[in-house]
Amino acid sequence: MPTSGVVDDRSSALPVVVIGAGMAGLTCAAELWAAGRDVVVLEAADGVGGRLRTDRHPKGYRLDRGFQVLLEAYPALRRQVDVGALRPAPFDAGALIWTGRRLIPLADPFRHPAALPRDLTTSLFGPGDKVRLAALAVRARLAPWESAAHAAGKPAHDVSAAEVLWGAGFGRGFVERFARPFWGGILLDRTLATSAGPFRFTLKMFLEGSALLPEGGIQALPERLERRLPLGAVRLNRPVEAVVVEEGRAVGVRVAGNTLPAAAVVVAADPPAAKRLTGITAIPDAGVGCVTVYLTGARHPGTGKRLVLDGTGTLAVNHVAPLSVVAPSYAPPDRHLLAAVVLSEAVETHPDDEALARRARHEAARMLGHDPTDWSVLSVVRVPFSQYAQPPGIHGRLPKTTTGIRNLYLAGEATVDSSYNGAILSGEAAARAVFRDSRRYEE
Ligand SMILES: Cc1cc2nc3c(=O)[nH]c(=O)nc-3n(C[C@H](O)[C@H](O)[C@H](O)COP(=O)(O)OP(=O)(O)OC[C@H]3O[C@@H](n4cnc5c(N)ncnc54)[C@H](O)[C@@H]3O)c2cc1C
Repeated sequence: MPTSGVVDDRSSALPVVVIGAGMAGLTCAAELWAAGRDVVVLEAADGVGGRLRTDRHPKGYRLDRGFQVLLEAYPALRRQVDVGALRPAPFDAGALIWTGRRLIPLADPFRHPAALPRDLTTSLFGPGDKVRLAALAVRARLAPWESAAHAAGKPAHDVSAAEVLWGAGFGRGFVERFARPFWGGILLDRTLATSAGPFRFTLKMFLEGSALLPEGGIQALPERLERRLPLGAVRLNRPVEAVVVEEGRAVGVRVAGNTLPAAAVVVAADPPAAKRLTGITAIPDAGVGCVTVYLTGARHPGTGKRLVLDGTGTLAVNHVAPLSVVAPSYAPPDRHLLAAVVLSEAVETHPDDEALARRARHEAARMLGHDPTDWSVLSVVRVPFSQYAQPPGIHGRLPKTTTGIRNLYLAGEATVDSSYNGAILSGEAAARAVFRDSRRYEE
């Protein structure tokens, strides 16, 4: 970010208007403000965060709007947010795999070396797959990837995650029992038809850091970014209706029927909204969704701080996260909170929340070896557009930060890859582009 030698022209100039207060918009605004530009962030919703929101349940639970974790190794996140200030609690590396009869523990041998002998003798998959996984992991750790898009490599050579696994010779047991539920839960795609980029990059991220839950819920992350902005810079409940373009340049935005003039406009809305606002057809808008069923009970889940994965492929629930075991702040004292997550394919066949919740409760209890009556349904959170679909090669077809219209920029995950690491990178790139162009036009 070009912070040196920048003149503070906040008092005299029109603000840069950023549309959307998700991770992309907040990053862009924080970078611009830090470098001396006036910024206004217009957000349609009643809070910041976009897809990183947390609701406070009246009984004291923290319910994220869809289960997701904070990956502390994300390079862009480390640059922008003091993760320690979120007082995060880590999941244990590894997982428990449900085989249909019992749970088999699987630790990450790179992070828990003591578990290596046990994991090598697991009946889940053979030593050959352990060696193949170690080879993939060594390559991932040595690679200089900054994002999933970077890890995808040249678009013409990109393949799916499934093709990487089959091509490397992994056995069916490894793929079906571990890779599908584990990466399926991350990519929200159990078929693993997603690009190898997000697959490789998340492997690297899980090897290099922990998966965390912030004490205040996932929304604490964007709120931390918001704190870098002055009071009043973020205006909530302000859906932008249109970008105002005159003579080939963006001059403002239309909100509640009025025009707000702007020195530049950065569209950092979610991909479907960004596509509507800009008309840029390269913005991907095919979504992948998931449903998080929150379950509560007095009984300890008995899982430790580990995810429970469905290794059978027969359940609607792909994984269960023992949230309150990892972060006690997620539930009131003496209660526990589980997130049972159902992925897109199963979501599509269960349009009815009540039936899906009943099924999720039953399946989660079965995986834990509990009685279904030990758990009750607290809430069902359906997010049809959690991420955009990322088939092989997509990262080479994504739109650029600059739009062809002067003073109009695009941020948001649509320009990098579908993750909050990608969203942060996109916000940084948009701030750089605003700066570069404003200096060029001034010269
Ligand atoms: C359940 C779930 C699980 C996920 N899992 C992971 C994961 O494991 N790892 C990972 O990295 N990512 C994950 N993601 C994706 C990640 O959350 C997103 O990639 C990221 O948050 C996108 O940030 P963004 O700023 O680009 O967009 P958003 O967060 O969508 O923010 C866009 C903002 O623009 C606002 N907006 C839209 N239209 C307008 C308008 N007209 N006027 C004003 N404001 C507008 C929206 O209200 C929103 O606040 C997950 C998402 C979900 C929901």
